[in-house]
Amino acid sequence: MNEKLNKLKKERNAIILAHVYQSPEIHDIADFVGDSLELSRKAAQTDADVIVFCGVHFMAETASILSPDKKVLLPDLNAGCPMAYMITAKQLKEWKSQYKNPVVVAYVNTSAAVKAESDICCTSSNAINAVKNIAAGKNAKDMDILFIPDRNLGNYVQTASGIKMNIWTGFCPTHHNFILPEYVLEAKKYHPNAEILAHPECRSEVVSLADRVMSTGVMCRYVAKSSAKDFIIGTETGILYKLRKDNPGKNFYPVTTLAQCPNMKKITLAKVVDALINMKNTISVPDDVRQKAYLSIHKMLQIAAQG
Ligand code: SF4
Repeated sequence: MNEKLNKLKKERNAIILAHVYQSPEIHDIADFVGDSLELSRKAAQTDADVIVFCGVHFMAETASILSPDKKVLLPDLNAGCPMAYMITAKQLKEWKSQYKNPVVVAYVNTSAAVKAESDICCTSSNAINAVKNIAAGKNAKDMDILFIPDRNLGNYVQTASGIKMNIWTGFCPTHHNFILPEYVLEAKKYHPNAEILAHPECRSEVVSLADRVMSTGVMCRYVAKSSAKDFIIGTETGILYKLRKDNPGKNFYPVTTLAQCPNMKKITLAKVVDALINMKNTISVPDDVRQKAYLSIHKMLQIAAQG
């Protein structure tokens, strides 16, 4: 299968980008595995004609917004993010209309239409910076910051930055419903010397039990540098494959094996091959939406580039 895939990739001049929550079989065939911010950067920089995006719908849309001249394929069109569906462009417009001077900070887990109605995008690795940047701008004292759609990330950013925001009530079912404080305490009982790392999409009771709170990309870099040998990981379990592969001398334990995103896992090797053979499941964004959404993503990338 892998030989067939490599031949196809060459013929199509294709690159395979995969999110860290993907299954091991996808990690193994991807040209690059990373978090949302890293994948956005790769999508913006690649010379390939075709991007096969192994992730969920909004990620493929973001790739298409950044590289409109490339063909972006999502191997399963049903791979969507429930959190991203928790706010629509219509709901956001209505919410904005309730404020005199709204400034919308949109987590990248939103549709292109919602991004087009937002002022700046952020990922979990640069959300605090994005909000601080907005709050440092001129007329900041008269503005109302609206943070969408994740209430857990929003609350975390608000506490960490000390900047008051209005926060939408969305959440990630995988992080919010399955990564529970009692599971963290149980894992700590079995691994008392382990460092607890949690993603900010987890509920606040989990975040407060963690030694460190970080995005998946930062997590991957942090464990390599840390002097700790054991880690309890509070995020989607797909990341464990990469952590173990990249750090053979260290031990990684999930808070719970229940933390699996069913949408991320819809992408399979067979579907990747099928998408490439038939050049099917193209994701594209209408030009008027794309141009507006691009501005909010571009702003995020600019802030990220400043460090
Ligand atoms: S893990 Fe959560 S936020 Fe990520 S794609 Fe799945 S549902 Fe969406």
